[in-house]
Amino acid sequence: PISENEVLSRLASVGQIAAGVAHEVRNPLTSVKGLLQLMREEYDHQYWDVIFPELDQAITTIQSLLAVSKPSLKNEPSVDFSLCVELENILSLFQHDTYRIEFFKEWHDKSAKVHGKRNQIKQALFNMVKNACEAIPREGRVTLSHYRVGDRVHLVLSDTGVGISDEHIVRLGVPFFTTKPDGVGMGLTQVYSTLYEHGATIDVKSTPGAGTTFTITMPVSPRYKHTESPGGVPLLSISD
Ligand code: ADP
Ligand code: MG
Repeated sequence: PISENEVLSRLASVGQIAAGVAHEVRNPLTSVKGLLQLMREEYDHQYWDVIFPELDQAITTIQSLLAVSKPSLKNEPSVDFSLCVELENILSLFQHDTYRIEFFKEWHDKSAKVHGKRNQIKQALFNMVKNACEAIPREGRVTLSHYRVGDRVHLVLSDTGVGISDEHIVRLGVPFFTTKPDGVGMGLTQVYSTLYEHGATIDVKSTPGAGTTFTITMPVSPRYKHTESPGGVPLLSISD
């Protein structure tokens, strides 16, 4: 995947320009959509079914650009929180997928907290779970493990989806890289930039046709550094 320096510098340029444009474009786009909705009530036309999905696609793209560079999120204060508690809430947003996807939660150490911008990280975790679900064409499994090893919290997200080829793995996190027909390709850009800003490491292993595993490690919050892991999981080295 994209390196830390690369993601930050690309994001700085893409982000600044795109976010500026996105801001200028979003409001007129939204008001055009509103006016067209009023017009639809008055005039019947075969093109409405083309116009609205196209408009929605444009609005989604703009919104995902803004999500990456939202100044309100950038200025968010840092707090102590547990990644798996956030994941628990995020999974409830994927209820509609439970008829085809089994979600396995392995919370080995729920009390291990990290320190950072909770909403930004929540957005990143949401983007990753969404990708995992979208990678599964029919039925499959998404496994989330949360545990602590020494001074780092580990989060492992695996899916039994389509996997990622070596050629594509190196492009993960590059703004607008997508293989999906309706994709935007900003989800992982937000993931990589946010997690790197929080001192995380991100490792990706994938087997095309079998699935993908993202392993994230983040420093445990300084306040919890000297506490013990109660989960019965060894505090030192779990090797690959
Ligand atoms: P989008 O979801 O809009 O395509 P993302 O930045 O979230 O954009 O992801 C970029 C690309 O990375 C996806 O189009 C897909 O090819 C690949 N990808 C990300 N996560 C996974 C996953 N869990 N399994 C397979 N491919 C993935
Ligand atoms: Mg995505």
